[in-house]
Amino acid sequence: MEKYNHKKIEKKWQEKWEKDEPYKAEDFSKKEKSYLLVEFPYPSGDGLHVGHPRPYIGMDVIARKRRAEGKNVLFPIGWDAFGLPTENYALKTGIHPREVTKQNTDNFRRQIKMLGISFDWSREINTTDPKYYKWTQWIFLQMFKKGLAYKASVAINWCLSCKIGLANEEVVDGHCERCGGETEKRQKEQWMLAITKYADRLDKDLDDVDYLEPIKIQQRNWIGKSEGAEISFDIKGRDEKIDVFTTRPDTIFGATYMVLAPEHQLVQKLKEQITNFDEVEKYIKDTKKKTEIERTAEGKEKTGVELKGVKVINPANKEEIPVFIADYVMVEYGTGAIMAVPAYDERDNDFANKFNLLIVESNLVDKDEVIKKVNGKKVVKYKLRDWVFSRQRYWGEPIPIIHCQKCGSVAVPEEDLPIELPEIEDYKPTDSGESPLVKATDWVNVKCPSCSGEAKRETDVMPNWAGSSWYYLRYADSDNDEAFADEKNLKYWTPVDWYNGGMEHTTLHLLYSRFWHKFLYDIKVVPTHEPYQKRTSHGLILAEGGEKMSKSKGNVVNPDEVVENFGADSLRLYEMFMGPFDQAIAWSTDNIVGVRRFIEKVWRINEKVKDIKSNIALDSTIKKVGEDIETMKFNTAISTLMILVNEMEKKEEIAKEDYASLLVLLAPFAPHTAEELWEKLGGKDSVLSQKWPEYDEIKTIEETAQIAIQIDGKVRGSIEVSVDETEEKVKEKALRDENVKKWTEGKNVEKVIYIKGKIVSIVTS
Ligand SMILES: [Zn+2]
Ligand SMILES: [Zn+2]
Repeated sequence: MEKYNHKKIEKKWQEKWEKDEPYKAEDFSKKEKSYLLVEFPYPSGDGLHVGHPRPYIGMDVIARKRRAEGKNVLFPIGWDAFGLPTENYALKTGIHPREVTKQNTDNFRRQIKMLGISFDWSREINTTDPKYYKWTQWIFLQMFKKGLAYKASVAINWCLSCKIGLANEEVVDGHCERCGGETEKRQKEQWMLAITKYADRLDKDLDDVDYLEPIKIQQRNWIGKSEGAEISFDIKGRDEKIDVFTTRPDTIFGATYMVLAPEHQLVQKLKEQITNFDEVEKYIKDTKKKTEIERTAEGKEKTGVELKGVKVINPANKEEIPVFIADYVMVEYGTGAIMAVPAYDERDNDFANKFNLLIVESNLVDKDEVIKKVNGKKVVKYKLRDWVFSRQRYWGEPIPIIHCQKCGSVAVPEEDLPIELPEIEDYKPTDSGESPLVKATDWVNVKCPSCSGEAKRETDVMPNWAGSSWYYLRYADSDNDEAFADEKNLKYWTPVDWYNGGMEHTTLHLLYSRFWHKFLYDIKVVPTHEPYQKRTSHGLILAEGGEKMSKSKGNVVNPDEVVENFGADSLRLYEMFMGPFDQAIAWSTDNIVGVRRFIEKVWRINEKVKDIKSNIALDSTIKKVGEDIETMKFNTAISTLMILVNEMEKKEEIAKEDYASLLVLLAPFAPHTAEELWEKLGGKDSVLSQKWPEYDEIKTIEETAQIAIQIDGKVRGSIEVSVDETEEKVKEKALRDENVKKWTEGKNVEKVIYIKGKIVSIVTS
């Protein structure tokens, strides 16, 4: 038999798949549907590195198994292609972002196809395609009409080098997530989406979905639901009150001071009364430079300034207490004011110690009762804020709004969608902080759709989270020009049955898309209240040294080279075998050699295949491989196959049916090789259309036996082994036994004899 030649085999089958399209999903098939989804990539100029395909391969294994189980699988792919890196690259090179996007997607597509991932390419989508973003704009308009998209002057995070407003989630430790540059707070008119209106449901409905527990926890923390009370404290000598929010109204007798966020509007109102206003003002100024994380980090040194001359009355015990401003209280959270209870709260305690404030261990009181007594009210608060939806850049979806002096912000009529990005020469950000689209005056100046007067288009564009907030719906009906997807298609395909993606997207993309989906459900254009039934995550692949792969560090491993040298099937198997799927792991090119040898073994065993009766029990293997794939334990599924192949290697002859089962089990991991060997075997159709093998549960139950261990003629212990265990393994296990070690310590083991199912006898000298 000829040698295993990955280049020849992979080229042959990829051409066939390209022609036959065996992975095309069928709308409305009678078969049970299974919608499997991976996060569509951002097509960067660097192409794929070996970390990108890990989730694609993992879900591909599952997709292939589902097809073998007779399901109608939808496993689509597309491009999340708006955004800054492309725009910045375009600025540097002078090539239009559209052209850059085309080059990058062409390269990504080539690379993904090279790996033999079973995507349904007929449904490929691209968020920068006007046919696609027409519907992103349409959804925005529906939100605008329902009052969920609104304009507000907000303090936004401003990246000094990108000259762009960033969402809180895009700022990491005070630095821009994109360029690493410094950010500051700026007050700016922005489009906002009222995600907070959905906070309660986004939290509660997590009970209805099957997400990995850490994902649920992360979302819940981000939403930050807390139940408590709002209580008013009178300001001494004034006819005014300060409302505080507390989750512990029962501790109110221990409240010995109050803290306001430095931005709290009352601070300015009380200016005249505050005797140390200079000091206060300086503190407010310093706070502006700090990020939220710096302000609220646990264990950080507490700072603050007393508002001298101001006292408030604790409504529970009528005592006068001092008022401070401190940066650990955030103005957006709760009421921006807290009653500080240093005896029961760690942060308040740190603060009280630093400023020598009273710490009173009061009796706790009935909750409900005290709220009534002080005229408070029960409330639920969330940490979640509304979503800053404006970007002052070029390469994004234009926000479909027209500003008219007379009518205000007016929705673009739906029949005018999509509002396409105009061609402009210069898409450099402006120094005023406005979008470069302001320079496209022909595009900007329009008639007001409502009064026909002079009006201007909105020049802000959407953030790159927009297109990905609903893309999974488009796959259900990707060519539709009448709607983002037909109702019938949505009913057949959604919700997504299984969605795998990065843990880093849990609080951004995953939450945003759940919010959009719930809105679409409310306006009755999608049939389910949650978009994804199940969500799992994969770990990153790190560079050989254990660091994150990055172009700047020069440690990126390119899959083109790996495929050239070892083949796509070796890369696929290696990425699934290298370690637990949900954990980060370092790449090792040396270790690919091992899986490559495994494939070659499978290849050679083909020569021993004969028309004989089955001579290997496969039940346990089939069971284990199947169960491990379902729980994404791909690494142990592969080791199970390796054990089977080792066993086959030792046999003189292999039954055709046993080898066929091996190929069907191997096909999800190494589809090209499995397909080629299936053909050589004379198998019917394709290995891909074979039924997933069945097993007999009874035969998977291992029979075990207790084996006595004799050392120099005396029984010194026993071990439990499977009755089918090889002699070698039993001896190994016996020698590793703690008792045996004790009795053989310092001695020379001369002979070990195993009498099957009965005794291990060890002779020492
Ligand atoms: Zn930046
Ligand atoms: Zn008007």
